Amino acid sequence: MTRGSRPRIGILGAGQLALMLAQASAALDIDVVCAGQLGDCAEQVAEVKVVDLDNVDAVAAFAAEVDLVTIESENIDAHVLDRLTLYPNARAVGIAQDRLIEKRFFNGCGIGTAPYAPVDSLNDLERAIEEIGLPAILKTRRMGYDGKGQVRLRTPGEAAAAWKEVGEVPCILEGMVEFAAEVSLIAARSRKGDIVFYPLIQNHHRAGILRTSIAPFVEEDLQRQAESHLTKLLEALDYVGVLAVEFFVVNDKLLANEMAPRVHNSGHWTIEGSDTSQFENHLRAIVGMELGTTESRPTVMLNCIGTMPPLGQTEKFAQLFRHDYGKEPRPGRKVGHLTFPASETAAIAEWQRRLCD
Ligand code: AMP
Repeated sequence: MTRGSRPRIGILGAGQLALMLAQASAALDIDVVCAGQLGDCAEQVAEVKVVDLDNVDAVAAFAAEVDLVTIESENIDAHVLDRLTLYPNARAVGIAQDRLIEKRFFNGCGIGTAPYAPVDSLNDLERAIEEIGLPAILKTRRMGYDGKGQVRLRTPGEAAAAWKEVGEVPCILEGMVEFAAEVSLIAARSRKGDIVFYPLIQNHHRAGILRTSIAPFVEEDLQRQAESHLTKLLEALDYVGVLAVEFFVVNDKLLANEMAPRVHNSGHWTIEGSDTSQFENHLRAIVGMELGTTESRPTVMLNCIGTMPPLGQTEKFAQLFRHDYGKEPRPGRKVGHLTFPASETAAIAEWQRRLCD
């Protein structure tokens, strides 16, 4: 990158994460251009070029016009990523794309997970059920998000139907754990190797989709455990940018569930709740700037799934920050989120009822 000129960042993808990255870029003298499709929601704030993200040459041509490339989704073919100046690097993204490789990587870094076994056939599944026990979840190794590509098994008799339901593709069988809480930790690592952490976030999912994030989840020992785990992962990967890791809390220990090599839904509250948002820190990290402070205030984020509440219903709450991604309503689709200072307990309870019941 030439000194003194505005860095130009290319984002693979033009959805809501790209939109919020582009919004954060305005304060940093950074130009952002997204690779996506016509009508993608980042179009509202950034240039979006129509690029087929499965086409190596099209992505390489897009990358040639920017200083560096980042991603808003890890589900991009590794052979496309290999040819790019990519932050975070292609190895980190490749690991996060495959649940089996990811879990082995966690374990290799000394981080516990739920019990799991690879499944490549119905025979494997039957063997894995004997080894791991039930209840368990059959998860596709690739392309799973928001609970997609997952089937829960309660009895051995459900194996054949579950194997069919996931499409007979490579999977893992994962033992169900009884967690006290689901939490995530978001960290950013700079090009120099400096690391900042946000406070642990408690997350509530329904039907596999994140509904609520509450920060901070105040457990000093777990915060220390999580920071130590992320430090190992970030350093092992020579990672640059924001990394999010989701954990289950089981018997006061953290079991890693999955990692996202990008900004994460459970960190959207940082836009209002932290001195530097996850979006700004990701941009700062990848262009080689110093990271911003993650000093934070107690904050709650509620996802809007399917449709946005009418403007007239939210505008009377002075402490409510409304983020409408400008997407067409569709069942199960994340179309926006609401953020509140945690002290607004009555408003939060009311909106939780409206959005989650
Ligand atoms: P995932 O796509 O792996 O994040 O799974 C989506 C959600 O399903 C998680 O946030 C949990 O609420 C639940 N879940 C996934 N794996 C397990 C597990 N091994 N034990 C208990 N709940 C799980």
